[in-house]
Amino acid sequence: MKNEPVKIKSIAHATPDVLHIVTEKPSGVAFVPGQATEIFIDKKGWQNEGRPFTFTCLPKADYLEFMIKTYPERKGVTNELLSLKAGDNLIVNDIFGAIEYKGEGTFIAGGAGVTPFIAIFRDLREKNSLGTNKLIFANKTMADIILKDEFEKMLGKNFINILSKEKTEKYAYGQISEDFIKRNGTALDSYFYLCGPPPMMDAIEKQLNNLKVPADKIVKEEF
Ligand SMILES: Cc1cc2nc3c(=O)[nH]c(=O)nc-3n(C[C@H](O)[C@H](O)[C@H](O)COP(=O)(O)OP(=O)(O)OC[C@H]3O[C@@H](n4cnc5c(N)ncnc54)[C@H](O)[C@@H]3O)c2cc1C
Repeated sequence: MKNEPVKIKSIAHATPDVLHIVTEKPSGVAFVPGQATEIFIDKKGWQNEGRPFTFTCLPKADYLEFMIKTYPERKGVTNELLSLKAGDNLIVNDIFGAIEYKGEGTFIAGGAGVTPFIAIFRDLREKNSLGTNKLIFANKTMADIILKDEFEKMLGKNFINILSKEKTEKYAYGQISEDFIKRNGTALDSYFYLCGPPPMMDAIEKQLNNLKVPADKIVKEEF
């Protein structure tokens, strides 16, 4: 796929910071759950500014779906997306991405880092193969949890939340630690999938190394 224009069908907030965008799907788009594409805004001054975003829909859907965290302070592409409406065009380009399902394990996401896992979990649900997979999801507050209801329904007690800026009765409070992973994750010889901002990824990879999780069992992508 190269520079395909796609019309936005709907654009709305999924959380205070995250846009849920659904677009038309060009024919011949093929991707593996977890993969991303390069997106441009089809608007003067923005056609050369490509940014990577992950497909959150299933490959067989007749639309494309994205969950995009916006950073208004950076005055970049995600800020510009905030001014778009249904009927406006995006351009989608190459398909790529380092995260793909390899087997049961623990998925650890920070904020918008959950997007590759959305497609993977939806795919596993479709195949009746959710198994013992667990999702540990770190956010600042409860309102920031992307697709909270869907994950709760899909994963039940295997959906484990931790909040760094809001204390609740329901969820853990603070940062992910080695002890938290040991208590809430799957066996240490299963797969660990990581996706989030670089400082979080660095910290968790160190913890997994300390816990002697083999490097070839860690599947990761930095956002
Ligand atoms: C494979 C892959 C898939 C991804 N999928 C998704 C997804 O599905 N959903 C999602 O929400 N995100 C996803 N991301 C992350 C997403 O690509 C970035 O958040 C996005 O590119 C930010 O674009 P931007 O133009 O708004 O800001 P940027 O291009 O990051 O920044 C614009 C300018 O702001 C300044 N700036 C940059 N970083 C900072 C900072 N930390 N603090 C202050 N100023 C800064 C710089 O001057 C920069 O030039 C993905 C990333 C990768 C690698």
